[in-house]
Formats: sequence, C-alpha cells, structure tokens
Amino acid sequence: MQTVSIRHTQSYDPDILYRSVCEHFEALILAADLSADMHVLLKPNLLAGRDPSLGVTTHPALIQAVALRLRELGVKHITLADSPGGLYTPASLRKVYSACKLNPLREILTLNEDVTSGERDGFSILTPVLQADYLINLPKLKTHGLTVMSASVKNLFGCIPGLRKPELHCVYPTIEAFTALLLDLSAAVKPHLTLVDAVDCMEGNGPGGGKVRPMGYTLCSRDVYATDEIAAKLMALQPSMAPTIRLARKRGLCDPQAIQQIGDNLIPANPPFILPDSIITKERFFSTRGLFHHFFGRKRTYPVILADKCIGCGLCGESCPKHLIDIMSKKAVIARKGCISCFCCQEMCPVHAIDVVRKRAW
Ligand code: SF4
Ligand code: SF4
Repeated sequence: MQTVSIRHTQSYDPDILYRSVCEHFEALILAADLSADMHVLLKPNLLAGRDPSLGVTTHPALIQAVALRLRELGVKHITLADSPGGLYTPASLRKVYSACKLNPLREILTLNEDVTSGERDGFSILTPVLQADYLINLPKLKTHGLTVMSASVKNLFGCIPGLRKPELHCVYPTIEAFTALLLDLSAAVKPHLTLVDAVDCMEGNGPGGGKVRPMGYTLCSRDVYATDEIAAKLMALQPSMAPTIRLARKRGLCDPQAIQQIGDNLIPANPPFILPDSIITKERFFSTRGLFHHFFGRKRTYPVILADKCIGCGLCGESCPKHLIDIMSKKAVIARKGCISCFCCQEMCPVHAIDVVRKRAW
C-alpha cells in the first residue's frame, strides 16, 4: 500500500504552511525516520532564477516550513541543493538563490555551493545528494512541454549537474527513451520523502513560461510514483498522458488502485490544467488544423523565436543540447536542422520569447 497525505494549504502564509507540514509529518510518522546527526538534503525545483510569485520554482516559504519542522525534530544538518538549467557554478547558484528569495533561509539551512559530482548507477549526481542520509524531494507541480507534467519524478532530473542535463537529452532524444532515463534516475536517487508544492501550480507552457494556477494543496508521500499519480489527478490530467506515470505503471512501480489517500479530500482542477502548446492532445489532433498537419506531414512541434520579445540573453543557447541557437544582432536564431524538440530552450527563456509551432521535420 502506497500512502499519500493530502492537505489543503490555501496560501504561502508561514503559519498555514507550517501546520500543513506538521500534519504531513505526523500522518506519515516521519519523526521515526529522523535523528539528530543525519544529513538531510532538500531538493526543490529551482529551474531558473525566478521570483517565487511566478510559479516556476518551489516556494521558499514551503522550504522554510519543512526546515523548521526538521529542526524541531532535532535534525542539525540540513542542506538545500539543486542544479538549475544552464551553468552549474557557485556564482550561478548564488544568483539563482537570490532571485528565488532563498537567502533568508541561510539561518536554518545551508544553501549548497559545492558544484562537484560523483557517480551512482551510471549517473553523474550532485555530491550533496550522494552524501545525504535522508533526501526530501520538494517539487513544484507544473505542466511540462516535453513530459506533460513536472512533479515528483521529473524534479529529480535536477540531481544531474549543469550541462550534463542537456547532454542527456541528446543521448535520449525520444520521449520514450528520456522517460526511461527519468525512472532509472529516480530509482538511483531514491528520495525518502516527496512533498509537492501544489499551492500555486503552473499550467500552459510550463515548466518555465506558463501561467500560475492556484490549487491550494500540498501532497506528501514516501513514494514518488504514488505522489505523481495523485498530482496528475489534481491537474485533472489523464494519467495515460503523462509518460512517467505510464512507464511507472508498466514497470510495476505503482498500482493506482493500491494508493491510500489520507488527510483532506482532493478536488481535481475544474477546468483541467491547460497543457503546453507542444503537447498534441486528442482534441488538438482532431481539430481542423491538427488533421491538416497530420495528413500533410506536420506532426512535430518545434520552437520558434519571437524576435520582438527576445532580449538576446543567450540562456536558450546555453541549454540547447544540440547547440542550435546563436545570438545574431542581439536576437536568438535557431538553426533549422537537428532539433530534437526537447524545449530546454523554451523553459529557460526569462521573457517568454520562444513559441511552439508544428512544422514538417527539418
Ligand atoms: S532548439 Fe530548443 S527544442 Fe530544439 S534541440 Fe535546442 S533546446 Fe531542444
Ligand atoms: S529567446 Fe529568450 S532565452 Fe533566448 S536569447 Fe532570447 S530572451 Fe534569451
């Protein structure tokens, strides 16, 4: 039986969050897992340096509530670590911490600046993740242009250091291969606990360029796959549409019938979450435009630069695994051939200057 604790968490008010975190810890009897000398690692979603109000990153108030509860339970060593998109250097990490409003948390935890990594099960993994005695996965619930949803399993991709992530997109260019990689990685990392920030979620062109969708929940479980099942339910997303859920079920890692929901009643999103433009749903497929694209060979989605919005920052080029993006006359230009539609470029763009179109294969 996989248990998922569900709590209404209406806002990022510190008292409300603290209460929810305490209730999750009590419901799952987590105090028994912890001891004073343990090194506990918090792994939030810090995709990029964005203000918490944009719904891109795990909210600092939730991280603070978890750290406070851990401290009360006697835990002395708490570290926060993630590898955001783009470069992975102490300077780039400090920038992200500052933009994500994490600096005030330095009083109760350590913000990691160690950019070394080691190996586990064939993966290059951040050193603090490898050294942790207890790993708490703190994803943000969002839509995702490649994997449809980003929650528990997808968040662990940030355990891979810096530009090794785009390299893996090249080695595993199809969604099937990339999904298998994500599940292998989550088996290698094996978080002890997952607590999902679903207070303000993201819909539309997530994980970086969508709109905030307030849902008012936190979800918590020892099981990453069960948490994703419940997160998909909250988004009112067909589980079969999320490749990580599909594969987890196929591998026998999760049985939706065996999930025990405890705590508050979960009310799925109504209307369902808006999906990214890159995802071809049944409705989009059967539209006049969708059928036209299908029969005339325009089946794939590709990124296009909106030149009037582009500020020439180059972040998209830094994260493109195929090195297809150059800055010319202070605007990004995508080379036409070789794109694997991973949308790493789109998720890093700070000003939503990358759109999605369906085209013939380049
Ligand atoms: S151009 Fe964008 S979508 Fe295409 S390979 Fe590069 S990062 Fe991926
Ligand atoms: S498309 Fe976005 S990320 Fe790329 S250079 Fe322009 S503003 Fe920067």
